[in-house]
Amino acid sequence: MIIIMTPGASDEQIAAVEEKLSAMGVEPHVSRGIERTVVGAIGDESKVEKELIEALAGVENVIRVMKPYKIVARSYHEADTVIDIKGIPLGGKTVQVISGPCSVETQEQMDAAAKAVAEAGCRLMRVGAFKPRTSPYTFQGVGVDGLTMFRNAAEKYNLPIVTELMDVRMLDTFLEHDVDVIQIGTRNMQNFDLLKEVGRTHKPVILKRGMAATVKEWLMAAEYIAAGGNHNIIFCERGVRSFETYYRNMLDVTAIPVLKRETHLPIIIDPSHAGGKSWMVPALARAAVAAGADGLLIESHPSPCEAWCDADQAIDPQELKTLMGELRGIAQVIGRDL
Ligand code: PEP
Ligand code: MN
Repeated sequence: MIIIMTPGASDEQIAAVEEKLSAMGVEPHVSRGIERTVVGAIGDESKVEKELIEALAGVENVIRVMKPYKIVARSYHEADTVIDIKGIPLGGKTVQVISGPCSVETQEQMDAAAKAVAEAGCRLMRVGAFKPRTSPYTFQGVGVDGLTMFRNAAEKYNLPIVTELMDVRMLDTFLEHDVDVIQIGTRNMQNFDLLKEVGRTHKPVILKRGMAATVKEWLMAAEYIAAGGNHNIIFCERGVRSFETYYRNMLDVTAIPVLKRETHLPIIIDPSHAGGKSWMVPALARAAVAAGADGLLIESHPSPCEAWCDADQAIDPQELKTLMGELRGIAQVIGRDL
């Protein structure tokens, strides 16, 4: 940790910083320059409460040298982590495409959706039984019965199921239904109690980026899950809020190489909630694979015009199949497969 003093900091103020650092268990090292003094803290930085140093008189800035995240950091595990989802690897050489409708509607809809997802070549399916909607007056998801309908449809094609957990009170139900991957949605990225609870399970977790979260906040949210013992975390970028109104969110492709550098955990991209329109999905999906994403989360529906939720952004079975072919070509060019 480096503590930069203000230009006019007095000897007493510098001594107070040294004293505080010693009391916190690190060794202060003072460098006096012509303009200002810098105090280095040598030792285990995690022992130092940054805010308590910042609050001292004469302190201008406190810079951490170490990353605040530990388990999710690349330095914790040099190699890329590959997450095993019922025998399907996510995070290795193979780019995985996870697809399905935004929401469970009926058993017939689920059966048709699972067939389309499997026939397109996707190996995992994602559908929501509980939906976080902006308005309390719109469809909120079919609820627990949806988990059963989803499982019934997906198991015919050996597709592991991915679904969103919004409420910690539903976690036991999710475990009873043996949900294969728990999705934490953008609105819950910093629901720390929910993160702690999924951290106590060993279920793979897809952690969507909060719609206005920085990369550091996102990594720290993942650290909450990891700190509980669950290291099976998959980051999912789904677009961030911006000033632009021509699309729903702005897909942050830059987050892919940044996360690849900062963490050993896989990152997938959701082009559907980023663009918000089905016609944007192929372009964003292709860009994501080219930029090194480990997978995609794509909303598809057997009949998009009839979807109960996010109808505008769902692609149809034929579009999914065509897109899979294009993505396979891009994956091969960069030495991966799909
Ligand atoms: C979803 O995946 O259907 C969803 C609501 O996504 P997000 O949390 O990214 O808005
Ligand atoms: Mn959706």
